[in-house]
Amino acid sequence: MAKKIIVAGGGHGGIACAAQLAAAGYEVEVYEKHARDQMGYDWTDIFDPKSLRYAHLPMPAKDKYEYKTNMTFIPPSGRTPVKQDVPESELEIKMERRDIYDLIITHAEKNGAKFFFSQAVTGAILAGDRVIGIETEKGQVYGDMVIDACGCESVLRASLPDVCGIQKHTNAFEKFYVYRAFYNRASEEEPEHPYKVYMLPNGRMGIGWVACEGDYSDLLIGEFEPFTVEEAEQKAAFFRKDNPVLGDKVLRGGYMVEIPVRQPLSIMVADGYAAIGDSAFMTVPIIGSGLADAFKASKMLAETIIADKSETYSAETLWPYQVKYYKALGAGMAPLALVKLLLAKITPAQLDYLFDNGILGADELTITADSTSLGSMLSFNPALLAKAKSLIKDKELTAMVLKLGKDIGRAAAVCATMPKVYGRYPVQRWAKGYDKLFRLKK
Ligand SMILES: Cc1cc2nc3c(=O)[nH]c(=O)nc-3n(C[C@H](O)[C@H](O)[C@H](O)COP(=O)(O)OP(=O)(O)OC[C@H]3O[C@@H](n4cnc5c(N)ncnc54)[C@H](O)[C@@H]3O)c2cc1C
Repeated sequence: MAKKIIVAGGGHGGIACAAQLAAAGYEVEVYEKHARDQMGYDWTDIFDPKSLRYAHLPMPAKDKYEYKTNMTFIPPSGRTPVKQDVPESELEIKMERRDIYDLIITHAEKNGAKFFFSQAVTGAILAGDRVIGIETEKGQVYGDMVIDACGCESVLRASLPDVCGIQKHTNAFEKFYVYRAFYNRASEEEPEHPYKVYMLPNGRMGIGWVACEGDYSDLLIGEFEPFTVEEAEQKAAFFRKDNPVLGDKVLRGGYMVEIPVRQPLSIMVADGYAAIGDSAFMTVPIIGSGLADAFKASKMLAETIIADKSETYSAETLWPYQVKYYKALGAGMAPLALVKLLLAKITPAQLDYLFDNGILGADELTITADSTSLGSMLSFNPALLAKAKSLIKDKELTAMVLKLGKDIGRAAAVCATMPKVYGRYPVQRWAKGYDKLFRLKK
């Protein structure tokens, strides 16, 4: 009899995994709290198209996407903007979130996965420490294992017993509270920089962007502290001053969401359980992109499940999924999470200094489709340390950057010592050391 895999939440990695497992003959059921036509956000996303092929997903029709334009990074003072220069072969694509969902859900259904929409998951069903199913608002569902694709604040992850050692909630500075809306275009003038990303805008800890997109303009405001839609409207005034294209009529979106911007979860598996996508914090820590890595992780998880000939789906047999993920992507994210923590400490004047003196330039800020590690995204290590010599005028900043270099080295060493084989005690001891690396000390 086919083994039954439950996917809790319609996250992207979960659906991509459902498609691969259903194609391999597993009975797969996906439980999603939203109705089918309410899936996803009312806006576009940017991601690496190669991740679709990697996860055996189809490419979208050509009229469903376009290639993204280069971003210009704006420092707090606005003095020295830096424009990315992404090579054509590395460009990401921009697609409507609803079209991404259409593409992957249709594909998973074609492969035989069954979807149950408008059915929220409320927690795990346990037999001892083992997850044997899910509680939903419409009743209990049992299966041979559960894939958690419920996103950043997954109720399923939060309901696991402490003994699994899996972090239940995010800590301070681990997610952005985000407001995003498409506004009318208020000026026909073509801006010199069509896609501006503001660092610490208006002296606030976070980022913002304004993208001029034909007949509308796209505003995103992300901060480490929660704020309301009304406050977002007040903050929008700051961006309007610098961007005459940004109108004041909300055409689409206009609500608050959350994005994890942190290191991947230190333990992603338990007996009968594996987390994927935002529920395992698979976003790129500074920029919050998570689609490509969730798709890539889906292949690693599906292959691990298929390779489990014992069909026990225990923490031990699912552990190779985490090992593969960290080797390919996760270990590269850890240094980026440390850089993000630096952004949480740096003052606007110090950040201006980095831009004004060319320490953060186009090379450092060129985020490409293949930017999955610090090495590929920022020429920070070891080149940054050489550059740090020119920071010498600002002693505090120099100390911060040098400490970052040390922390990055420590993170690389800790990631390299992740146990290759699962044992509850060694894995939890390793996770404790790994988590400690990212504790923010002011
Ligand atoms: C404003 C914004 C802009 C972004 N832009 C980009 C971008 O341009 N490029 C990019 O790569 N990434 C982007 N991201 C990040 C990206 O959305 C995620 O990293 C990616 O979707 C992977 O997360 P996920 O699918 O695992 O989780 P989610 O997108 O959070 O999906 C989780 C799913 O589970 C469902 N769910 C949650 N709880 C329950 C429950 N209790 N029961 C049943 N179902 C449940 C939700 O309804 C949802 O369908 C953006 C995120 C935001 C918020």
